[in-house]
Amino acid sequence: MAHRPTGKLVYLDEPEEIQIEEHEVPEPGPDGILTEVVRANVCGSELHIWKGHHPEVKEGVLGHEALCRVSELGANVDTDYAGQPVAEGDLIAPAYFITCRKCAACQRGQFNLCENAYENWSKPPEEPPHFHGTFGTHYFVHPDQYFYKVPEGLDPGIAAGANCALSQVLYGIDEIGVGSDDTVVVQGAGGLGLNAIAVANERGAETIVVEGVDRRLDRAEAFGVDHTVDFREYDTVEARAERVADLTGGVGADVGIEVAGVPAAFAEGIHLVRKGGRYLEMGNVSPGQMADFDPGLLTRRSIRIESAVRYDPWYLRKALAFLDDHADDYPYDRLIDTEFDLLDVGEALERSESRDVTRATLVPEHAD
Ligand SMILES: [Zn+2]
Ligand SMILES: [Zn+2]
Repeated sequence: MAHRPTGKLVYLDEPEEIQIEEHEVPEPGPDGILTEVVRANVCGSELHIWKGHHPEVKEGVLGHEALCRVSELGANVDTDYAGQPVAEGDLIAPAYFITCRKCAACQRGQFNLCENAYENWSKPPEEPPHFHGTFGTHYFVHPDQYFYKVPEGLDPGIAAGANCALSQVLYGIDEIGVGSDDTVVVQGAGGLGLNAIAVANERGAETIVVEGVDRRLDRAEAFGVDHTVDFREYDTVEARAERVADLTGGVGADVGIEVAGVPAAFAEGIHLVRKGGRYLEMGNVSPGQMADFDPGLLTRRSIRIESAVRYDPWYLRKALAFLDDHADDYPYDRLIDTEFDLLDVGEALERSESRDVTRATLVPEHAD
C-alpha cells in the first residue's frame, strides 16, 4: 500500500476536554472526497457540544462550519450537487450532515429531518475515515453529503459561514414566508439574527431587532436593521411589546423570528407579533429547557408557529449565491473577528464561550 500523508484533528474526549491527534489521511474511495480544511468557524453549537449540552453529540471529532479545498476526488465524483464540474484544488462548501434519501423523513421529502443526518459526524477519531469534523487539517466528505463549489471571487472568510447560519436562515424564512409587505421582528442579533436581518431586508421587509448588548446592536445597525429595541431600555415583555406595536402602526409585527436561543424569548414572541401573524422558532435547540408560555393568548391571536432545524441541503447553494450577490451590501467581513491556528483551538473555544470574540475561525497551517 502506498504511503499516505498524515493530518491533525481535534476531538472532544469529555465535556471541555479537547485533544489533538494525528492520523493518516484516508483515501477518498470511489464516491467520497478528501479535502484540506481552509477555514473552520467556531459556531454556537460547537460551544454547546464542548460544554456537554448537545442532546445527541457528546464526544468525537469537532467542527461543522467550514470551507474546504478538494485534495483527492473519488473516481465517481465529477460534479458538485448542482452539476458543476469539480476538480482537485477547487474550493467547496459541504453541508455538515448527509441526506440519505431513503429514511422515512427523506421519503416524505423532509430532507432537513433525515434520520441519518449525523451518521458520519462527530465520530471517535480512531474510527476511519478519522476526519469526521472540520476542526482538522483535513475533512472527509461522504457520499450523500451535499457540497457546492464556492463561487469564484467570493471571499473564503465570508464563504466559510454559508453552510450553517445563512443556510439555516434562508430555509427558515422560506418556511415562514417573508415578503415586501411584512414587518419582521428578529429576537437576537447573533450570527443567525444578523443573517435574518439581511435576508428579510433583501425580501423587501421592514426589520426590527430586539437585543440588549451594545456590540450586537451596533452590528444589527451595520446590517441595515430599520429599528432597534434595546432590551435594557424596554426591560419588560409588556414594554417591548408596546414598543414593537408603536413601530408597526399599533398592531405588532407580521412575522417574528426567534434567534436569541433562550426559552423566554419564545414565550415572548407571541406578544410581539400581530393577530394572524407568523412566528418562526429557530434559536432554541437544547431540549429540556423550559419557559412559561401563554397558549390562550396564542389562540386568541391566532399566530401560526413554525420551527426549523437544519435545512434542505440545496439551501447551501442558495446561501453561497446570496453571499455572492450581497457580500458587499452587508458587513459580512466583520462577522468573523478573530483567527486562530488550529492548534490553538482550546483558546478559540474559551474566548468564544466568554464572548470575548464574536466568531472565531480556525486556520490550519497548510492553508493559504
Ligand atoms: Zn453551526
Ligand atoms: Zn434520510
